[in-house]
Amino acid sequence: MKTPITLIPGDGIGPSISHATVRILEAAGAAIEWDTQLAGLAGVARCGDPIPDATLDSIKRTKLALKGPLETPVGEGYRSINVALRTTFDLYANVRPAYSIVPGGRFGDLDLVLIRENTEGLYVGIEHYIRVGDDPRAAAESVALITRAGSERIVRYAFEYAAAHGRGKVTVVHKANILKYSQGLFLDTARMVARDYAGRIEFEERIVDAMAMNLVLHPERFDVICTTNLFGDILSDQISGLVGGLGLAPGANIGANGAIFEAVHGTAPDIAGKGVANPSALLLAACMLLEHIGDIERAKRVRTALEQTIRSGTTLTRDLGGTASTDEFTDAIIAKL
Ligand code: NAD
Repeated sequence: MKTPITLIPGDGIGPSISHATVRILEAAGAAIEWDTQLAGLAGVARCGDPIPDATLDSIKRTKLALKGPLETPVGEGYRSINVALRTTFDLYANVRPAYSIVPGGRFGDLDLVLIRENTEGLYVGIEHYIRVGDDPRAAAESVALITRAGSERIVRYAFEYAAAHGRGKVTVVHKANILKYSQGLFLDTARMVARDYAGRIEFEERIVDAMAMNLVLHPERFDVICTTNLFGDILSDQISGLVGGLGLAPGANIGANGAIFEAVHGTAPDIAGKGVANPSALLLAACMLLEHIGDIERAKRVRTALEQTIRSGTTLTRDLGGTASTDEFTDAIIAKL
């Protein structure tokens, strides 16, 4: 029986890294029936809609998607499709693991997982301009919405994730010293949830600015990190930088009724169409997807082939210091498989 999964190739480098990922999964014998759908600029170009109904219907049916990056216009135009998909399917947990693959990096043995709240905070899209005199855009106001229920489910998710993956500590990151209400509610709720795991999983709290510094100085001190939407967005890119950059950072958006797996990076317009993008982040996201559907051994095999290819150092894409094209790198991984 093949598992039906929605495939959104995406914009920019998306189609190229999606093609590479599908080739590798096929070579590994994954039993997947892809339902390819459009979104982002590709959706606008073909259907006049950044999230066509057919794409939403497909995800409603399969409850699983592998998604390439989507372009979001900056400061104007349609709202982020990624944010809209997370909200539509209530994918409240954004899981971003990062571990050292590239040899000789500054940190040789890191293994962190950042769990970011995905549906609340400053990303709820409640914002407006305020007119002063003749200037209709004299000021702007954005609302950071934090709820007790939303905080509880993400912190509980982080503790359950730690328990399921044999991890010993959850660090909750906040700014409750300044944002006493919104961040204060998140922190209070986290402390309450942590009591249920006392004696089993260690709990610690860090203020976000100090956390940013500590992640650069002593990242090995952290294990599972849980935080609100905006801080999670920023810290997860920072963490990906500790282990070799965005080209190696996967992410999963998980909710009670669905899951969408993606690379953390964007459409990389500077290298789109040149055939040099690194498909590793999307491939690692696909490994998370395989694990999610219970195909644990295959995920391990694909991940090992990727790690061996990178560690052997002979066939690497440019972002990893090599000269290989996306296709050559993909062929090298398939050869290892
Ligand atoms: P970006 O991640 O696309 O690129 C940042 C830098 O990293 C660029 O130099 C790029 O060449 C490099 N890079 C990224 N992925 C790479 C890969 N796989 N291989 C090699 N190099 C890679 O970030 P940006 O330039 O800020 O954003 C471009 C567009 O992507 C924007 O429209 C943004 O909204 C969108 N975006 C989408 C997602 C998503 O769909 N999940 C995430 C972030 C940004």
